Amino acid sequence: MKVLVLNCGSSSLKYQLIDMSNEEALCVGLVERIGIEGSVLKQEKEGVEGKLIKEQPMKNHQDAIKLVLEALIDETYGAVKSMDEIEAVGHRVVHGGENFASSVIITEEVKNAIKGCFDLAPLHNPANMMGIEACEEILPNVPMVAVFDTAFHQTMPKKSYLYGLPYELYKKYGIRRYGFHGTSHKYVSQRAADMLGKDIKDTKIISCHLGNGASIAAIEGGKCIDTSMGFTPLEGLIMGTRCGDIDSAIIPFLIEKENLTPQGLSDLMNKESGVYGMTGISSDFRDIEKAAAEGHELAQVALDAYDQTVKKYIGSYTAEMNGVDAIVFTAGVGENGIETRESIMRNMDFLGMKLDKEANKVRGKETVISTADSKVKILLIPTNEELVIARDTVALVK
Ligand code: AMP
Repeated sequence: MKVLVLNCGSSSLKYQLIDMSNEEALCVGLVERIGIEGSVLKQEKEGVEGKLIKEQPMKNHQDAIKLVLEALIDETYGAVKSMDEIEAVGHRVVHGGENFASSVIITEEVKNAIKGCFDLAPLHNPANMMGIEACEEILPNVPMVAVFDTAFHQTMPKKSYLYGLPYELYKKYGIRRYGFHGTSHKYVSQRAADMLGKDIKDTKIISCHLGNGASIAAIEGGKCIDTSMGFTPLEGLIMGTRCGDIDSAIIPFLIEKENLTPQGLSDLMNKESGVYGMTGISSDFRDIEKAAAEGHELAQVALDAYDQTVKKYIGSYTAEMNGVDAIVFTAGVGENGIETRESIMRNMDFLGMKLDKEANKVRGKETVISTADSKVKILLIPTNEELVIARDTVALVK
């Protein structure tokens, strides 16, 4: 079965065509600048050098998906002879609220529930919906599945997901911790259990998804019991451009002092903060590391602060679960940031966590990076959210 996996952003669309007979990605592509000048599609095919580049106007997601389907049947860079070979589509949907604890076949009711979460994820859910509606138009007979970033975290107990706010606000607006990156946390925790040679039901895992956005999850017996992102993907770790945890009293203080609107404050915390805001250099950790190596003091402070927040969460989740079998590093920084991993895991031997500095000199490869005598295994596991989406899609469509 060939499954098309779509991850639609407001002006971009990432996609993969996966052959589920061997779980191989046949084509991987990205469409950028949808609805703005300079729209472009880029697609690579497994085993073929170079890439297909199509620069042509795309006024909306429907145009973009039409072009994706054309690219998938391209003679050189495509992988199917006709669109009929695509048997199902899996859509990444960021927010499912409390409605979905697992993936679902997309129906009118599901679409309405996704729309009901627009307020909770205004940047993501409307874009995800555009992708779903465009596919319905172009592939009307192909079954579609929604896979939610929030679903994996729905197992959290009330003590983890309720904030210390009046309970009516939870009832009235759904203000609670939802958690994100669930597809990634689910994938790497299962792989970690496999690498430990244990049934996931018998494991305690802390999964560190450290990318441009970053979150950590405490996963006990295969179920998420706590996670660092909250009502929105702003809470928790310091990120590329997001501030993560701050004293909430800073919010009214800034509104007054800087005369900020809600949108202005949201932009400040989501787009102008994090390591970018702290240094004024960049949101990319490679740039910050380079600046720090060249003696930029604030760049070093930002890296140290970042590493310390990750450490804090590892410590608190170890306490919450009364121990841990494995710490997993994944996503852009987690998979590639050799120095970041070393710094996070420094002085953690009291908790039974010892990094093997030589084994840690590796990027993007599934491997154990702890010493042989480390009580807790430290693992590097490249994430594969697309594969989880494709697997869930096949399971439901079959
Ligand atoms: P993601 O959101 O998972 O795609 O991660 C993207 C982020 O990974 C980038 O913004 C970089 O900060 C980080 N990254 C990628 N490669 C490296 C590297 N070699 N060293 C450190 N950070 C990296």
